[in-house]
Amino acid sequence: MIRIILFILLVGAIAALAVFLVDERGHVEIVWGDWLISTSPIALAAASLTIAFISLVIWQISRWIFRGPRGIKRIRRIALQRKAYRHLTEGFLAAAIGDGGKAQKLARKAKTTINEPALALLLSAQAAQLEGQREAAIEIFKDMMVRPETELLGIRGLLLNAKKSGNQLEVRELAERAYRIRPDIEWVLTTLLELRVRNRDYMGALKVLKESIRNNLISSDLAKIRRSALLVEASRKAKRNDNQRDAHKLAIRSVEIAPNFLPASIAAAEILIEMGRFNACARIIESFWKIAPHPTLGSKYRSIYEDRDIHTQIKRLERLTKISPDHTESQILMGSAALEAKLWGSARKHLLEVEKRSPSARVYRLLARLETDENQDTQESHLWLIKASEAPPEEVWRCGSCGAIHTTWHILCNSCASIDSIDWGVPFSSNKKLHEASILPNDKRIESN
Ligand SMILES: [Zn+2]
Repeated sequence: MIRIILFILLVGAIAALAVFLVDERGHVEIVWGDWLISTSPIALAAASLTIAFISLVIWQISRWIFRGPRGIKRIRRIALQRKAYRHLTEGFLAAAIGDGGKAQKLARKAKTTINEPALALLLSAQAAQLEGQREAAIEIFKDMMVRPETELLGIRGLLLNAKKSGNQLEVRELAERAYRIRPDIEWVLTTLLELRVRNRDYMGALKVLKESIRNNLISSDLAKIRRSALLVEASRKAKRNDNQRDAHKLAIRSVEIAPNFLPASIAAAEILIEMGRFNACARIIESFWKIAPHPTLGSKYRSIYEDRDIHTQIKRLERLTKISPDHTESQILMGSAALEAKLWGSARKHLLEVEKRSPSARVYRLLARLETDENQDTQESHLWLIKASEAPPEEVWRCGSCGAIHTTWHILCNSCASIDSIDWGVPFSSNKKLHEASILPNDKRIESN
């Protein structure tokens, strides 16, 4: 707008000057050596403007001639880059729909036309993978690793290949290298944590977990469970190395971090029993009993007092079971202790109560024993045992990835090498159920312990 106004003003000024000069009488004389030019003011003004215009045109032409080759090169480069980006776009689209051949062709074209090879390399790698050319893809990933801008991409590609071929040493080296470059990326931290767990380097895994927490890559609830789980394994490792002091410290810490994580309470109870610290052990079991009574903790609690007379044992068990008196585990614990103490009436009362509310093979077996011990009634006992054989399976430690059954909880399934896949529940009876469980998020699986 301003330019238009300025232009109108300029044209107006020239027109006014022209009118002024036309109206102005007189003449102009220019003497140059032997030359004499005599003319009117308007003719002189017109001649000056014409000379100025011709000079401007000559200046522009000479400028274009001088800068011409560079300008042409620049235009050509821009056109080539546009072409290369079009090849790349079409190539990535072809890769996205699984057309590896077309993607490879376009990647080759882009590589010859573009200055920046990072994208062309990425497309080439994707295309090679789609075409099943593993060796070619590996070479491209190696190429990527020597360029700072694509180094991490190259590492990731090689790492996935090494994982597929089961080369654990290479996986480890690549994960450590990726961690040195970017210790704040989720896949880098997850891979490294898994590797360290598989190598039983639980303290190293805890350091990696700390990075995930610092970079907000993990929820605080899941972080607590993971830390607790790693501490449980670290405690077991210390115990295997006869370092009872560290084993105790680590197990207690695991309970403090996640009081609702069952394996932590079990690990702490075990080490405290070994150390003869029965009161501390009882307190840990009692506090978990409030959250979820569990048969393993029940039997640990019983073992604390197994040297006492049976009546004292029952009194102690009552202190535990009155925390959740109606829970099946409390009833079974009291029923089986009463059976041991030959308190038939009490045993029958507790066991029949459980049998009514939540029958299981375990309670049928105890009732069968009751019939044998109290009444020597083998026929009645046999009937309970038949029921036990037909009852649904008992809860166990099971792997949500492969379905393997474990005697105790571990962070790593030694059957399929999955991490965080073992929880407490009924064994998987079909592939469908196993699949359903394995797609549960890790935090869900651990919390259900
Ligand atoms: Zn498994």
